[in-house]
Amino acid sequence: MEKGLISVDRWTGESQAYFLTHLHSDHTKGLSSSWAKGPVFCSRLTAKLFPFKFPEFDLSLLRIIRIGSWHSISLVSPSSGSKNVIQFMAIDAHHCPGAVMFLFRGDFGCLLYTGDFRWEATSDRAKMGRSMLLNALNDAAVDILYLDNTYCNPSYDFPPREVAAQQVVDIIASHPDHDIIIGIDSLGKEDLLLHISRVLKIKIWVWPERLQTMHLLGFDEIFTTKTSLTRVRAVPRYSFSIETLEGLNSMRPTIGIMPSGLPWMVKPSDRKDHLFGSLLTTRYNKSKWAGNESVQMNKPNGSSESPIRLHKYIYTVGYSDHSSFHEIEKFIKLVQPTNMKGIVSSSCCYVDPMYYFGRLCRVNQPTQSLHQKQKRKERDEITLGTKPTFGRNFVTEVERRRNSVKVKLSSVQANRVRAYRRVRSGAKIVDDDCPD
Ligand SMILES: [Zn+2]
Repeated sequence: MEKGLISVDRWTGESQAYFLTHLHSDHTKGLSSSWAKGPVFCSRLTAKLFPFKFPEFDLSLLRIIRIGSWHSISLVSPSSGSKNVIQFMAIDAHHCPGAVMFLFRGDFGCLLYTGDFRWEATSDRAKMGRSMLLNALNDAAVDILYLDNTYCNPSYDFPPREVAAQQVVDIIASHPDHDIIIGIDSLGKEDLLLHISRVLKIKIWVWPERLQTMHLLGFDEIFTTKTSLTRVRAVPRYSFSIETLEGLNSMRPTIGIMPSGLPWMVKPSDRKDHLFGSLLTTRYNKSKWAGNESVQMNKPNGSSESPIRLHKYIYTVGYSDHSSFHEIEKFIKLVQPTNMKGIVSSSCCYVDPMYYFGRLCRVNQPTQSLHQKQKRKERDEITLGTKPTFGRNFVTEVERRRNSVKVKLSSVQANRVRAYRRVRSGAKIVDDDCPD
């Protein structure tokens, strides 16, 4: 796809149309209440939550996409000035409220951008998403798959969320005289909390901003900000620490539960014990942590199929809103892309999905090296690479581009382009808070 047409989850460059997969902060870097570069395409639920995260945002820029329907936009080629029609569909990503994948097709071929996604085999919702994707593809080849590679390592294995949710319930039920705190993010894991509430017939405490989000999502009765009404509290993940648990236990017996696909560990420091999750690698284990008896990992290989008692006050449960390694593998086998790029990178390690799954691609690609250093050149297939222009004519330029976007809500026919295309570097997200 030509540069300057669309951006997905990237907000600092210049494009004519912007696509937002979901509202986690690692996908909205550069987006702000004053951002006004062009139209933003997102799901209806993301649009509903959007003003809560960006209160002063010009909501007239939002374009709501109906999940499972083809849409099209007509853009202008920056190089030739010719019309460029792009067809796209949003598909449920089963990640957090409002999260979608985007399937694009046009003269450039067919691109699938998963955003963050969970690809479970079970649940009716997962089956619907699968059939929606298969119907949309209609046997067309995906030229480039932009993949959520958060757990693109065989050691990352965890159960379906409904299994993990029951594990959390079992832990809570086995501590009838304890208060319980559960570490969560500002969005996501609502189904876990709902399951706990339904099975144990108990309300869940959340902090005031989270209660507002719950109300926006339509959960009015289950959640409360009154601590006297429940012994189960969902707290911001950043506040979940051994120090916090020890402080709470000085007043009342309290157990902490961390739902996550990450291998969590306890790292003592001078001031306090930190609990943190990390995409650990063999290199990290050997060079940094091996032999340090004060550091505990839940399992040597990071697997978390069963709850782990990480600390006398803390359990970790493998409840994740990202796909496990084996789910990623199943997804790639289903899609059979010609090529693929990981969208999640971090400063400590990056696993190129081609390393493990290149053999599953339609075109036999040379296997790439693990933890390959990513060149952050702004030449992505989907996102626009040039720096934003803040000159005098910038507003005029934005307005021109905004007007050049025309959304057609009618169904369109597939226009498959089978020619092999040169693959350039993929869209990457610098992931420093990695919600899971
Ligand atoms: Zn996310």
